[in-house]
Amino acid sequence: MRNALIPLITAVLLFITGVFILNMQLWYSTRAERLEGAIYAVNNINNILDEASHATHLAIDIAGKGCDPEGQFQLGTEAALQPHLRTILIVKGREVWCSSLPGNRGLLARIPKMSAASLFLAPAEDAANEQPFLVYQTRFAASRVLVTISDQHIREALNAPLEGVIYRLRVGNNVIGLSGDIAALNASTPPSGQVNSKAYPFSIIYNQPPLFSVFRLVSLGPGILIFILFISCAAAYALVKYLNKNATPAETLRRAITNGEIVPFYQPVVNGREGTLRGVEVLARWKHPQSGYIPPVSFIPLAEKSDLIIPLTQSLMRQVVANMNAIAHMLQEGFHIGINFSASHITSPDFVAECLKFKESFNHPALNLVIEVTEREPLNVDEDLVHRLNVLHENGFVIALDDFGTGYSGLSYLHDLHIDYIKIDQSFVARVNAEQDSTRILDCVLDLARKLSLSIVAEGVETKEQLDYLNQNNITFLQGYYFYKPVNFQELIKILLSKPKVKVAVDDATREKEDVHDIVN
Ligand code: C2E
Ligand code: CA
Ligand code: CA
Repeated sequence: MRNALIPLITAVLLFITGVFILNMQLWYSTRAERLEGAIYAVNNINNILDEASHATHLAIDIAGKGCDPEGQFQLGTEAALQPHLRTILIVKGREVWCSSLPGNRGLLARIPKMSAASLFLAPAEDAANEQPFLVYQTRFAASRVLVTISDQHIREALNAPLEGVIYRLRVGNNVIGLSGDIAALNASTPPSGQVNSKAYPFSIIYNQPPLFSVFRLVSLGPGILIFILFISCAAAYALVKYLNKNATPAETLRRAITNGEIVPFYQPVVNGREGTLRGVEVLARWKHPQSGYIPPVSFIPLAEKSDLIIPLTQSLMRQVVANMNAIAHMLQEGFHIGINFSASHITSPDFVAECLKFKESFNHPALNLVIEVTEREPLNVDEDLVHRLNVLHENGFVIALDDFGTGYSGLSYLHDLHIDYIKIDQSFVARVNAEQDSTRILDCVLDLARKLSLSIVAEGVETKEQLDYLNQNNITFLQGYYFYKPVNFQELIKILLSKPKVKVAVDDATREKEDVHDIVN
């Protein structure tokens, strides 16, 4: 778990840090860009107002001389030659006294009500063409000079080719933007960015970029984002490699369980009399990515020592349920499914509940679930253990005593425990060969089992001699390479589909030989 979590956390942290740095960098550069755009707009409007200031000086000169045709011509020429000016007016009292327009017209409505400020925005209704405009106003003696600038030039001056930013001209508490409408500044939401002109009483206001923006990251830094992702994954990969190099065997096994590398194999148990499959025993295999299938002797003892046997068995149980539910229609009533349980699992507090849940998970209503308890490791048979196994027995589980004859724990508990059958250890069966004496030990073991009235399954049947001997001794249920080796789920399906009859002959002449099915050879 630790080996997967640390690289994952590292990768996520690296990615977040990278994205954070990139985001801040883009934020700073976008802010700087927007400020530059605002300064550019300020300069544009300063230049326009420089024209107005120049025209004002000329108007004051003319006012001193009198508004004769020559003076009026000069005002008209100034307004025509300065690219951004619309009209130049000299107002005395409430009337236009001299103007750049023919006939000293003003083309302005409401002159008396106009602001007294030196620079102000006038709304559309103040102009004859009903367009808003900017007014540069200078007072001298009892007169004043008004220079008007059309909103179109203001809009052009504000138009910077930057995405996501809106520049507006602020004069006093009024603003005009690209749409050309004049509005009062909203006091409750002051502008996030503002640059004041040093030469004239106006500012450019604009919106600052948001501190974090996914859109900005994706549109301005897609390449760097991919690079950060790549670096994070590469770091996680390197860390996985490093941690795995130093992982303990238990950690490696824990990860294998989590990754689903411990898989069930199935070894068929054969009914020697009827020639049919009685069921299967589930045997764990480690499907190692590099080393292939690893047998359980290499990892079950480690799992038992390092408290991993319970999660390992639970993982197998889940896979067995999934496998068997997928082929439920192919399984006969009473089909046996044997699972090997270690003593530490059986004595764990949740064992009974787990087994009951396991049973409920099968779609097939009439399977025989076999709990194989090994005699190989000492089993502390106390009241609690007897009670647990008996409760499971009452709930329809079959209890089998595995590796019978090898145990150290004595046989006294057989009286208390409800054992459905025993499995004769393969080491006893393996001794049987053509020689007369070879069956002596197995004779004793079988004798003992019979005296205890126990049903018997023989394991490790490899040869014809062993099969004959077991048949002569009426041992019906058999398991061994002579019939089937443990196989994976796909192979098990093939076996079930072939509906085999197996080699069960005592007397070859009376049994079918043609239907023999042996996937071992
Ligand atoms: P077992 O429960 O006695 O399982 C039978 C073992 O005998 C299996 O070995 C099987 O492959 C092998 N076998 C079957 N027929 C023959 C045969 O004709 N000749 C020979 N030489 N061997 C045969 P496997 O699969 O290597 O399992 C070894 C042991 O590991 C099992 O012995 C069982 O005690 C343990 N084991 C396997 N899977 C699990 C598991 O899921 N949980 C626990 N707790 N133990 C397991
Ligand atoms: Ca077993
Ligand atoms: Ca066994």
